[in-house]
Amino acid sequence: MGDQLDGASAAFHGFDAAQDIILQMELREEASTVPQNKRRIAFFFSAMRHFRDEQRALGRQVWYTELDDPENRQSFPAELQRRFDQARPDGEIIVLEPGDYRVRAALEALDLPIRFIEDDHFLCSRSEFQALIAANPTMILETFYRAMRRKLNVLMEGEEPVGGQWNFDRDNRKSFGRKGPPLMIPPPRFPADDTTRAVLDLVERSFPDNPGSLQDFAIPVTRAQALQSLDDFVRHRLPDFGRFQDAMAGGQAFLFHSVLSGPLNLHLLRPLEVLRAVLANPSNAPLNAVEGFVRQLIGWREFVRGIYWHLMPDYAARNAMGATLPMPRFYWTGDTDMRCLHEAIGHTIDHAYAHHIERLMVLGEFALLLGVRPYDVHRWHMSMFWDAIDWVSLPNTLGMSQHGDGGVMGTKPYAASGAYIDRMSDHCGRCRYHPGKSLGEDACPFTTLYWDFLARHRRKLSRNPRMRGPYQNLMRKPAKDVLAIRRRATALRKELTRETFLREPDQA
Ligand code: SF4
Repeated sequence: MGDQLDGASAAFHGFDAAQDIILQMELREEASTVPQNKRRIAFFFSAMRHFRDEQRALGRQVWYTELDDPENRQSFPAELQRRFDQARPDGEIIVLEPGDYRVRAALEALDLPIRFIEDDHFLCSRSEFQALIAANPTMILETFYRAMRRKLNVLMEGEEPVGGQWNFDRDNRKSFGRKGPPLMIPPPRFPADDTTRAVLDLVERSFPDNPGSLQDFAIPVTRAQALQSLDDFVRHRLPDFGRFQDAMAGGQAFLFHSVLSGPLNLHLLRPLEVLRAVLANPSNAPLNAVEGFVRQLIGWREFVRGIYWHLMPDYAARNAMGATLPMPRFYWTGDTDMRCLHEAIGHTIDHAYAHHIERLMVLGEFALLLGVRPYDVHRWHMSMFWDAIDWVSLPNTLGMSQHGDGGVMGTKPYAASGAYIDRMSDHCGRCRYHPGKSLGEDACPFTTLYWDFLARHRRKLSRNPRMRGPYQNLMRKPAKDVLAIRRRATALRKELTRETFLREPDQA
């Protein structure tokens, strides 16, 4: 699979170069239901072709179906069947378990001798996660994270966490203030070689109307480049990663983030080697930065994957907030006068990337407040981000950002008014709206929709102890103001979702 580019993975144990064949396929299937970001498609195909060439250089036989091969049947099951009929192998087809439940189900439905191998690119196996959740059915991320810290003996002093506390979130919520971000060394760039240039031509030719731009394509597409990116992060950006992990700034897509999720999710890097590089800490980063990163890597990332396999396939259909609207068209174009969304969507279109707080508290949050169907948010996320794989995208969007799972990924919805974005960014000062206003011509749509969200879901959320503060604030508002806010929110909802790019959901 395009997200399994590791020639040393468990699928290759016992590989016999004299008779075994590696099969790789570029397929239209995924790119056709939702308009995919060109950069995302190019990243996958370029990384796949580089992997093919590396494996061939090792003397391994690779059968590779290119996208525009006239014989290409353009879907996993159909193309696998065609290649199987060509090869007529004596043995079996070995598949590292896919990161997408639907792909696995489609392969299982084939009448072919397929053997699935457990993916060894995670620090918590599926069976280990099952055992943990069987022992504690309401396990939350924090409990899981502590168990992983103990198991891996990471940042521990005996039974206690290094520094006397398990997290340093309070130190990790700084904004850049008036001065803006301090001096940063941006992530390294890897100019396109001949292989990548051929892919860029192919993508431009095959998907001319898709969103995104292939200008300045400089993403790591090989393991060597991914390792260089890792080294660069731990040397240059890790020290400030912690305190500024929730901060946003106009024109800055990467800030102090590692930008390693793409290489990790395509298996160009292994989580254990990333963990070791961060713990080696060559830049003497403070504990809040190291712990903040470790939490994402061994806590959040592994938890998300465990939840995905534990709750699929029903998980994809969850919609705890009863959202009914489609994804607005401007999520593919950035054509909005809301400065924060324009910035975050711009980063998404230009880089197939936005950092986690833009995804959660701008892109995701606005869809939540608006009332977009959570599975649609997931489909958009899958189509636009270079690092999105089903196992990570679904719990992250449907669960965490849309609260569609009713509290599995987060114990309360990630909902806030425009004041949060104003505190954490420099966007509001350059916006036609006012973050503090919920009514009037210049009222911030986030703020209007936030109060409307609380009012609409009062019955579901007001008894949640973590929502007590927001509901006390809502109660202080005069009833006539709440009514006017709800009227304005209804008009906004209608206006903003009039146009969409998505067809009706076909999978949930
Ligand atoms: Fe976003 Fe509202 Fe701030 Fe404008 S005022 S940037 S819409 S939060």
